[in-house]
Amino acid sequence: MTNVHRDIAAGITVDDVWRCLGPGERSRAALAREVETATAEAVRLATPAAVSTSLGLVGARRGSARFDNDTVLEGRMLPHLLEGAEGAVFLIATAGQGIEARVAELFAAADTLEAFVLDAAGSATAMAVFSDVAARIAGELAAAGQRIGPCLKPGTDAWTIEGQRPIFGVLPAAEIGVRLLDSLLMYPQKTQSGIIPYGRDLRIVDDPDSSPCARCSAARCPMRREDYAGPLVESGSTLKRA
Ligand code: SF4
Repeated sequence: MTNVHRDIAAGITVDDVWRCLGPGERSRAALAREVETATAEAVRLATPAAVSTSLGLVGARRGSARFDNDTVLEGRMLPHLLEGAEGAVFLIATAGQGIEARVAELFAAADTLEAFVLDAAGSATAMAVFSDVAARIAGELAAAGQRIGPCLKPGTDAWTIEGQRPIFGVLPAAEIGVRLLDSLLMYPQKTQSGIIPYGRDLRIVDDPDSSPCARCSAARCPMRREDYAGPLVESGSTLKRA
């Protein structure tokens, strides 16, 4: 079943906007007023919406995972990240086009600084919308006894940008005013997409304490949940961390 979400909290703080602007410690005092203004404006201009659906996992093998409806995701890390999964929730969430329309106006008026800061506030808002809906979905899955994996997004180390195609093949993005461009970017730009793996026996889970990453030595793994703690060693009749 496909769900359209509209009652979404898109609240952001100035710290969220700073995270999108970069460290900028030395700029903080000089830009404080602009960041505060942009934060409030982004909240006012946002029209948050999301669409989601859950698909069962049919099988995963080297480099690909097949879901219901013949939906196939391709990515080197995906079979590993979906080990033990029963399915995944596919999700697209948007802050709407109001923020970027205002950013375009500011650029056209040569208000470049305000435009850059509002653009960062728009990015923070899109993340907040996605996180709010993802947290709600994760809560429902957890209440049903499922373990939840880290959210996987196209265009990351774990999954190439080509992953946008199956997500948009599954979800009626037009219902929330989102479309996929030929470049595989999304319009509105302040939109995020991804999948949330779930399963009672899911192996790579969101909770670092429950994932096997602490005992895995894959030094450059982009999906690591916690630091490597060394191999398990035998101590009497039990195994413990070295
Ligand atoms: S660190 Fe190891 S166990 Fe954790 S996600 Fe990466 S490859 Fe998998």
